[in-house]
Amino acid sequence: MKTIYEISKSGKRAVTFAPISVPEYTLDSTLTRDELNLPSLAEVDLVRHYTALSKRAFGVDDGFYPLGSCTMKYNPKINEEVASLEGFASVHPRQDTDEIQGSLALMSTLSAYLAEITGMDAVTLQPCAGAHGEYLGLQLIKKYHEKRGDVKRTKIIVPDSAHGTNPASASMAGFDIVAVKSNDEKGVDLDELRAVVGEDTAALMLTNPTTLGLFEKNIEEISKIVHEAGGLLYYDGANLNAVMGIVRPGDMGFDVVHLNLHKTFSTPHGGGGPGSGPVGCKSMLAPYLPNPGVVKTDNGYEFSFSEDSVGKVTAFYGNFGVYVKALAYIVTLGAEGLKEASETAVLNANYLKARLEDLYPTEKGRHCMHEFVVSLEDLKKETGVSAMDVAKAMIDGGIHPPTMYFPLIVHEALMFEPTETESKDTLDEAADLLRSLYEKAHTCPEELHTAPHHAAIKRPDEVKAARNPILRG
Ligand SMILES: *Cc1c(COP(=O)(O)O)cnc(C)c1O
Repeated sequence: MKTIYEISKSGKRAVTFAPISVPEYTLDSTLTRDELNLPSLAEVDLVRHYTALSKRAFGVDDGFYPLGSCTMKYNPKINEEVASLEGFASVHPRQDTDEIQGSLALMSTLSAYLAEITGMDAVTLQPCAGAHGEYLGLQLIKKYHEKRGDVKRTKIIVPDSAHGTNPASASMAGFDIVAVKSNDEKGVDLDELRAVVGEDTAALMLTNPTTLGLFEKNIEEISKIVHEAGGLLYYDGANLNAVMGIVRPGDMGFDVVHLNLHKTFSTPHGGGGPGSGPVGCKSMLAPYLPNPGVVKTDNGYEFSFSEDSVGKVTAFYGNFGVYVKALAYIVTLGAEGLKEASETAVLNANYLKARLEDLYPTEKGRHCMHEFVVSLEDLKKETGVSAMDVAKAMIDGGIHPPTMYFPLIVHEALMFEPTETESKDTLDEAADLLRSLYEKAHTCPEELHTAPHHAAIKRPDEVKAARNPILRG
């Protein structure tokens, strides 16, 4: 397919501007460009170009998209409409508070619901992504220790199954990382943990359920070990989909949590945003939350400012449209509906796991939560067919590949997260396809090595694409 620059023909125009009704003004030449290389196209060419491009993309509206750890689920379209209502979409961040009472009420209500869902005392909506929330959460932890004069706490403990953003955020926040190994049950090894906690521990970062889709049963003991050593507990809430309305991080002993509204609360993601990673904390950390907060007073809603705040972490108040969708989703589902969404997500994952586990090795004999990881290590040894080959062959079957080669502690990993919105029929189709690919790996491996056969792009050179990206024409 040609790029928009290749189909450009000088002189073509897609728009005709209305005649200007004010006197013309010539800008100073220091403020203008000599040259602007924009493509020239007629309206019809422009429409056809972008329509063709959109047809080559695969999204959750096209088919099954079981990308583990990313939660590519269906997000009700009505919530997009709610977010684009004039009063929400046209509000300006510099308006006076008496003109934006509704927007402030929305932010305050959403924060209160998220605090209730996570078992936290206070929530800020400011961070614009999960990783951004992690960075802020760690700043809160840092400030907490500093305020107590406990300045030797420079280390963050991170299990080896963690999402890469955990150690990355901790490092950016100025901490040193200590990795703890998983035990045979793929949870945190308690003896290892006891050996590494100490006076230099600032916090432990944990995802529960873990990135393997397994619930960390020892969480209360883990919480005790870290707290007794004077450290705090950070909850990576990206996997809240499995436990929402069932258990609360605050009750498990966590002090800080981030959520990914673009994974759990009705904002589609991919393509760079907009996302939102609200951070909740227990009351002793609340004074350090970013300014401004929103409070309800006798005169209505107002911005609040805390002297001890770590500062602002985004322009204005974060991605407001995402808040509208999240609140619409929460009030539509209600407490029971949120719980049911989690229960169905867990049921779907267990169903797909059960239909595959005789061929695709996973944690046998254990229930998973909302996602599970299979290892194709044996299949690769037997047939030469890798996780990458199977993932690529799934594209020909009309299914988006699952997450590949993550978490790093599982070799030849494929990680499936079916989400709560998929039907049994869809799960059966996926299971049938994967079972037939397993057969094919034994009878006709070459076909898998060269897959996909029907996609617009076959096998790009992934190393070259990462090292030498050509991002524009
Ligand atoms: C997605 C994810 C993150 C990071 O969230 P972003 O919004 O992509 O920055 C962190 N931890 C886990 C377990 C995740 O799945």
